[in-house]
Amino acid sequence: MWESLGLDLDAHDRLLSVIPPLYQDVYLNQKNRPKGMEYFDFAVMEIHGLRVQELQEHKANGGKVVGTFCLYVPEELVLAAGGICIGLCAGADVGTAEAESVLPKNICPLIKSFMGFKMAKICPYFESCDLIVGETTCDGKKKAFEVLGDFANVHVMEVPQTKSEAARALWRSEVEKFKEKIEKLTGNAVTESDLMAAVKKVNARRRALKRLAKLRSADPSPISGKDALLVEQISFYDDPVRFAEKVNELCDELEERVGAGIGVGGGPRIAVSGCPMAIPNWKMHHVLESSGAVVVAEEACIGERSFRDAVDPNGSDMNALLDAIADRYLKIDCACFTPNAERPEHLRELVKERKADGVVHYSLQFCDPYTVECYSIEKSLKREGIPLLKIETDYGQQDVGQLQTRVEAFLERLGDRVGV
Ligand code: SF4
Ligand code: SF4
Repeated sequence: MWESLGLDLDAHDRLLSVIPPLYQDVYLNQKNRPKGMEYFDFAVMEIHGLRVQELQEHKANGGKVVGTFCLYVPEELVLAAGGICIGLCAGADVGTAEAESVLPKNICPLIKSFMGFKMAKICPYFESCDLIVGETTCDGKKKAFEVLGDFANVHVMEVPQTKSEAARALWRSEVEKFKEKIEKLTGNAVTESDLMAAVKKVNARRRALKRLAKLRSADPSPISGKDALLVEQISFYDDPVRFAEKVNELCDELEERVGAGIGVGGGPRIAVSGCPMAIPNWKMHHVLESSGAVVVAEEACIGERSFRDAVDPNGSDMNALLDAIADRYLKIDCACFTPNAERPEHLRELVKERKADGVVHYSLQFCDPYTVECYSIEKSLKREGIPLLKIETDYGQQDVGQLQTRVEAFLERLGDRVGV
């Protein structure tokens, strides 16, 4: 299968050999994990196996695969046209030399990673994609999609930078254009009933993730932050129906744990806010939880932002459904928007709901939108007396010792506050 996808087999083998020991250290060594995590462990161990095989079967039957890098791409339209939508990962330092041959060195690691995965021919998901959908969110990404266009079939959606009426009209027309693009790619017209069914399918996945997230409000939390983050990461590439079923099974078990007072850790509860943590980026959560904290929320795209809002499935016709899709996606409070008052507000609500003792603001190096927006986050948390630790990091392991020292000092400060 790998050969037929045109992968660089040696580089791919090297990548796969890194995952089991890392996974053992970060995940399998955790004590008292819910049994329901077995499915998600399997999904990681099989990350380049079963799901890729499903994509190949889908393609062999004439289906199309669409890859995305951002929450703004309305996957409902891909599903309604009979396609499969995959959130590509970009969470590891891979193919750096190849990426740096076309991009500057000082660009956000997420952008460098997606270019690296493509240029080094290492990701079977990327190589399975018939179309990559980019967006005009941050400057680095939108310019990188121009470069990526030389190596892959790319469609770029114009995401506005404000939420004015004019911006909404522009975005609505982009949603319509995307529908046409997908219809052309798949050769299938999107019907109202197919779109309605796709909306319901994606909403069901969002509901399951929301149920899981809310269970983390319990004290003690019935699941570690690392496990919850992993489930959120897998949501981007697994089959949405199977995934929702497995998350709901996990939640049934977590509800029993909450009832029996079973949970993880006893240290300070932390909400992590900021840049997306794509699989296999577990660095910040691992540092926090191995220092005694429990992460109870991810105010991020791989996290709350992906499932907070649902699409209204009750549109009476195609126009109403497309309106509902445009409106739902425009609610996303990405730092690429200006002004972006919703994000600090959502974060404060989340801290309250999850009974978090403090916030860690996580920025990827060279990410201007999130690093600069940290100013408003800090201002808003300060008003409420919520402690904040600001972290700026990359995908490397070189700064782990330094992060640990800063995290331990922060947790000690919180421990004194909450009497842990
Ligand atoms: S942070 Fe913004 S640009 Fe990045 S994935 Fe999320 S919505 Fe898209
Ligand atoms: S993390 Fe920041 S710089 Fe990187 S792609 Fe997302 S918004 Fe752009």
